[in-house]
Amino acid sequence: MQKKLIVAIDGPAGSGKSTTAKLLAQRLNYLYIDTGAMYRTVTLFVIRKNILGQNEKIIQLSAELDIVLEFIDGETNVTVSGEDVSQAIRTYEVNQNVSDVSKIEGVRKILVQKQQEIGKNGGVVMEGRDITTVVFPNADVKIFLTAVIDERAKRRALEFAQKGTDLPINEVKENLQRRDTIDSNRKVSPLTQSPDAIEVDTSNVSIDEQVSIILDHVKRIAKEKNIKVEIN
Ligand code: C5P
Repeated sequence: MQKKLIVAIDGPAGSGKSTTAKLLAQRLNYLYIDTGAMYRTVTLFVIRKNILGQNEKIIQLSAELDIVLEFIDGETNVTVSGEDVSQAIRTYEVNQNVSDVSKIEGVRKILVQKQQEIGKNGGVVMEGRDITTVVFPNADVKIFLTAVIDERAKRRALEFAQKGTDLPINEVKENLQRRDTIDSNRKVSPLTQSPDAIEVDTSNVSIDEQVSIILDHVKRIAKEKNIKVEIN
């Protein structure tokens, strides 16, 4: 019998995936995996090496990068060959280019394999765009988070402001819409709602409420599958 669940969460940028998945993983004592951080890391190095648009080189780079994700003090810590890039992958420049890098089929193939390897034994909360559909189509718990665009833009602008970058809300909104369009229309594993995913609209609920709604689903599914979960 499988002892731990695979919890897969997808949704567009700013829908609350990271915050919710992080808290959920803490409550379940599971590993939290932010797959967006992996696509962001590849993008950071693509920018540094000035190879945007050169797909073959980008694919080769994805295969070579030794991306390590760790969860330290409530945050995702990302290192590449020992260099801490956790802050560098969250810049506006990376935001502007990440969707173009992540639509490359060869890049996705490499990162999806890494994600499947990390989560194969369960005990993981993994979030991204294609976790419920491609990475773990048989995940025990599948959640699709949504929120109206204005709310998502507000949240992202606040996140940037807290890090010292004040951006006009319209600029943030345009970036989110641009990313949503590319992420949802790309040929390879577009952002789509899996028919069997549970939709949770976060527009008008607090983070605590989101977590508690999802935890209720986790508890119910665990019971159905006869898998024991201990919630902190
Ligand atoms: O989740 P986050 O906003 O950090 O993701 C950054 C970008 O990485 C997304 O806009 C998307 O282009 C890409 N991504 C993806 N597949 C995933 C996770 C993220 O294509 N599973």
